Amino acid sequence: METTIDIKKITKRLRRDTWNAIEEYNMIQDGDKIMVCLSGGKDSYTLLDVLLHFQKTSDIKFELVAVNMDQKQPGFPVEVLPNYLEALEVPYLIVEQDTYSVVKEKIPEGKSTCSLCSRMRRGRLYATAKEIGANKLALGHHREDIIETFFLNIFFGGKLEAMPPKFKSDNGDHVVIRPLAFCKEEEIMQYSEAKDFPIIPCNLCGSQPKLQRQLVKKMIKDWELLYPDRSAVIFNALKNTSPSHLLDSKLFDFKSIM
Ligand code: SF4
Repeated sequence: METTIDIKKITKRLRRDTWNAIEEYNMIQDGDKIMVCLSGGKDSYTLLDVLLHFQKTSDIKFELVAVNMDQKQPGFPVEVLPNYLEALEVPYLIVEQDTYSVVKEKIPEGKSTCSLCSRMRRGRLYATAKEIGANKLALGHHREDIIETFFLNIFFGGKLEAMPPKFKSDNGDHVVIRPLAFCKEEEIMQYSEAKDFPIIPCNLCGSQPKLQRQLVKKMIKDWELLYPDRSAVIFNALKNTSPSHLLDSKLFDFKSIM
């Protein structure tokens, strides 16, 4: 049975969820110049689209610059993003950096290249933000990215840590924001299809799928089938912690209880 997608409803929900995150974490202020990191995937297109909407409709006056990194993966369609952004009349910059050759040279065949690749990309994006005078960087991570990272850190990292909605870059120069933090991946997917964004495939580098993340994704999907809304409950838990009922003495002063 084919289900029809109510795009009006999804648009409304995505905008509402994004605005709630922006307000809750005080993500955007008057005078901000925000560099939107655009990979060409569904999440970053949605992020740019929703931020452009708020730029037109909210009382906060801020600038947006879309930045994409051409990492020189074989088959990267160089014309897709410039064509899209020019049609939207959005200020943009394409940064060229051959991270592809570097990771292929440094990482042995069969090992994941993602960690080195992301580190290099992050460094270059921070440098670009500085060059263009952007005080903030916006990333397209959504609710499911945050939940998956939380479980990955528990299962494989031995720590209770998710993804922050807002943080200072390592060098302290920039504030990084994740305005889609409250948005559901499924709605982003449906929105992206309805808007017909010109998606650039994310497997051009030939990297192995990130196996652990795929496993966690499947685990959460299976839970959702058994207990609908499980993801919403988990996400609420991340916003509702009790340091006194965990075991981290750096977060709660157990010693002073006499
Ligand atoms: S999938 Fe490819 S481009 Fe993306 S982080 Fe991994 S190595 Fe880099």
